[in-house]
Amino acid sequence: MNILKYPDPRLRVKCKPLSEINDKIRQDANEMIELMLKAEGVGLAASQVGLDYRMIVIRQILENGERKVLAFINPEITKKEGVIHEEEGCLSFPGIYAKVTRAQKIEITAVNLEGEELKIEVSDYLSRVFQHEIDHLNGVLFADRLSPAQKIALSSKLKKMEKDFQDKNK
Ligand code: ZN
Repeated sequence: MNILKYPDPRLRVKCKPLSEINDKIRQDANEMIELMLKAEGVGLAASQVGLDYRMIVIRQILENGERKVLAFINPEITKKEGVIHEEEGCLSFPGIYAKVTRAQKIEITAVNLEGEELKIEVSDYLSRVFQHEIDHLNGVLFADRLSPAQKIALSSKLKKMEKDFQDKNK
């Protein structure tokens, strides 16, 4: 398993809902968590490692400073509120950062690796992370959400990634 980089077409896959959690899924989740931590990311979606089902892993830092990494299966945004506009990066776009507009507060339903249904509310930073990762499951990348001016500003970096990808896959 490795992290796919833009413009790998597998990043555009619309992931399917999972109907069963088995050992293979738990193994995938553990590998994704390891990869994310090694890359010092805060979130990773299944499509970023070439899997085609709806699972994301997210690193949270609790109020007491403790780090916690959790997997969310079939995450769904059920409520959105407010607007934030903050800088984001993505493990599939190393070295590229840009401000993206997101909802400030969201409510999410999901299932954890134990098969328990979750309903959580997150705001600000975590709200952005969840929206970014859920976008990935729909084949949407943060570069798609940039303004025309931002796209122009980043176009040479994106073109370079496209060329590197082509060269590598000749
Ligand atoms: Zn990303």
